[in-house]
Amino acid sequence: MNATATQFKAQARVLTRDLRHREVIHTALSKYEVVRDRTRSAFQDWDSARQAAAEIKWEAVNHLGEHLAQLVRNLEARGTQVHWASTAQQARDIILGIIRDKKARSIVKSKAMTSEEIHLNEALAEAGFEVVESDLGEFIVQLRKEPPYHIVFPAMHLSRGEISELFARELGSAPTQNPEELTMIARRVLRQKYITADVGFTGANFAIAETGMISITENEGNARLTAALPKVMITLLGIEKVLPRFEDLALFLPMLAAMGTGQALTCYNSMYGGPRQPGEADGPEEFHVVLLDNRRTELLADGEQRDALHCIRCGGCLNVCPIFRNIGGHTYHTTYSGPIGSVITPHLRGLQDWKHLSFASSLCGACTETCPVKINLHHHLLHNRRNASAQKPSVYEKAAFKLFGFVISRPWLYQAVKPVTRLLQRFHFLVKGTRLDPAYAWTQSRELPPIAPQTFKEYWRNRTAASAAARKQPS
Ligand code: SF4
Repeated sequence: MNATATQFKAQARVLTRDLRHREVIHTALSKYEVVRDRTRSAFQDWDSARQAAAEIKWEAVNHLGEHLAQLVRNLEARGTQVHWASTAQQARDIILGIIRDKKARSIVKSKAMTSEEIHLNEALAEAGFEVVESDLGEFIVQLRKEPPYHIVFPAMHLSRGEISELFARELGSAPTQNPEELTMIARRVLRQKYITADVGFTGANFAIAETGMISITENEGNARLTAALPKVMITLLGIEKVLPRFEDLALFLPMLAAMGTGQALTCYNSMYGGPRQPGEADGPEEFHVVLLDNRRTELLADGEQRDALHCIRCGGCLNVCPIFRNIGGHTYHTTYSGPIGSVITPHLRGLQDWKHLSFASSLCGACTETCPVKINLHHHLLHNRRNASAQKPSVYEKAAFKLFGFVISRPWLYQAVKPVTRLLQRFHFLVKGTRLDPAYAWTQSRELPPIAPQTFKEYWRNRTAASAAARKQPS
């Protein structure tokens, strides 16, 4: 087992037994489920909406080249500077280059999972820049020097008490458990940062090819301030975020809000079409858009799993996943956690190093059932498992299946080994829980079901004999 898999297993084992952690996550997600279901039921026909969204994303991803070319043309027509980044390193270099060129010192950021993906904060801090996250959840995890716990709720693993203690320690505020007061503490710190920041950095929820616009949806207004106040705005987005038409937002914005936070629509929905134009009162003087590939085109080339690029990062599959709900977001050690993270991380970061994530699933299919763009998530986990073992077969597994095949295809041999399995099982129950138990590792986290007292053949034989005997009885 490689180091990432060992770390994953060790941390998962600890967290599944941490009842406090489970309670916090359970409370947060049960409230989410109630509002999500209420909002989904307000759609005239949720299933038709999902089908329409899946088809639009299919069109967007299967003609990605054309849509990207149109997006870039329209962005550039209004003075936006577009940059292409093939790798995370290239994206960091481009962003650092812009910041250095502007002789900027401080950067204010709104929520962007793509920036987590390229480890931007670390690169900026290393280069000596001050970078502040302005989304409340991101601000909290930044103070704790942690990555986001969830793609939509970065600080969902923390109680109010923990946030109060954190603010008291890091910001010198008075302890309080009142959510409004906690928000005001963060707001006072952040307002000052917007005013003094040289560069505003954002992610994007969608990019509209037809109009050359970047769509950002949020609830705190922090992305709007990040884009409006500093002189330079930089937006980093994955190339799969493109939608063909402006009208597609009429479906995707309410759908993302319903699945992400259970709202009918988020509080702020902004469109950015370029730097400040002559006669406009506000907006950045310079607008840069960085289009990130980072192995997305490799996923695009995979006809079987290409639909993983349809993801709109609503977080819905994480919320219903029994594994995520027990082990939490940090255990994955990836930018994207939960079912979608387990599907795409092996593509983005290497199949052999991250294949263990595809096994962290009960294959219950709840993720596939909930996904608003109908990504076949649990089947893709199976595809990853198959690909990983085809690429690097396990010697033990191969030997075990060879042996199994050899025995099962010879009925006389199968009959001969049957009593041995019964004996082994009896031995297992005798020494269960000790190192002598041949199934010790297996039964650490699950039960070994008992072998039936009789085989089907024995059962049938006995049943037929009993019916024959009954028929012989005089009536
Ligand atoms: S895979 Fe589907 S459910 Fe999961 S985050 Fe993406 S869009 Fe949402």
